Amino acid sequence: MHEALLYQKLKNKSVRCLTCQKKCVVENNGWGFCQTRINKDGRLYSSIYGIVSSINLDPIEKKPVYRFRPGSMCLSLGTYGCNFRCQFCQNSEISYVDCSLLNLKNEKYLSPAQVVKMAIKLKADGIAFTYNEPAIWLEYSLDCCKEIRNLKLETRNFDMYTCWVTNGYATTQAIDVIAPYLDIYRVDLKSPSDNFYQKLIGIPRAKGVFDTTKYVHDKYPKIHIECVTNIIPGWNDDEKDLKNIAAWIVKNLGSQTPWHVTRFFPHARMTDTPPTPIKTIMKAKEIGQKQGLAFVYGGNL
Ligand code: SF4
Repeated sequence: MHEALLYQKLKNKSVRCLTCQKKCVVENNGWGFCQTRINKDGRLYSSIYGIVSSINLDPIEKKPVYRFRPGSMCLSLGTYGCNFRCQFCQNSEISYVDCSLLNLKNEKYLSPAQVVKMAIKLKADGIAFTYNEPAIWLEYSLDCCKEIRNLKLETRNFDMYTCWVTNGYATTQAIDVIAPYLDIYRVDLKSPSDNFYQKLIGIPRAKGVFDTTKYVHDKYPKIHIECVTNIIPGWNDDEKDLKNIAAWIVKNLGSQTPWHVTRFFPHARMTDTPPTPIKTIMKAKEIGQKQGLAFVYGGNL
C-alpha cells in the first residue's frame, strides 16, 4: 500500500480521490471505481504501487508513437485495473481485473529502481506506462520517471525518455504532478460524441478528455503528443465525427500532431462487432489530411 498523492479528506473518514476525473468519493474501507485505491481510516492508498502485470521491450512505434525517436525501443509496463470500462478494451485481461480481490502477495513487484535497472540492462531507450491506464498508477509512474530524471542529472549521456499511453481522463492536478517528468503523452481521442463515451465506456462526456489534452499541450509545450482513434464500425466511423476530431487536433494541438486511425478487432464485450474495414481507415486518413494534418497513419492494418 502506498499513500495516494491526490485526495481530499471529507466528513466521517470519507475521501475524494483527485487522480482522475471520476473524482470518486470513497468511504472508509471502501474502494474507488478503478478498484486500485482503498480508503483506510480516512487516508487513500494505492494497492498497485509496483505491481506489474505485463512487461515487454517494444518498438516505440507499437505504442503507437511515430514521430519521437523512431526506431527506438522502450520498456513497456502495465499494472491491473482501469478507470474506464471500455466494452471494446483490447487489454481487458488486465484492465477489467478487480484489484480488491487480487492476492497482491502473488504478484510481481518491481521497485522504480529495479525497473530502471532492467531498462538499462535491456538497452531500452525509454520507458512507457501502457497496456492499462497509467493515471491510476500515478504514484508509481512518477517515482519511475523521477528515478530516470535523477540518473540523467548524475550521468552524462544518459538519455532515457518517458511515455504515458493514456485514455486522457486524468485530472489536471495529476497532469501537473507527472508532466514535468514526461516526454511523451500518447492519448486516445476515442470520439467527439458524449453518447460514445456514455454507452461504451461509462463516463458522461467526451469533453474532459479533449480539454485535458489541450491542457497538456498548452501548459507543457515540451511534451510530445500523439493521438489515436480506434475506429469501431457503427460507433465512431461517421465521417462527420472523424472530421471533427481531425479539425479539433489541427485547431488545438497543431497540424504537425500525429493522428493514428486504427482498426478495431472484436474483443472483450464487443465480440459481435466486425473488424473495421480497411477502406474505412483509408477514408479516415483522407479526412485527416483534408483537415490539414501533416501526419495521419493507419494502424492495425
Ligand atoms: S483513480 Fe479515478 S476511478 Fe480510481 S479511485 Fe481515483 S477517481 Fe476513482
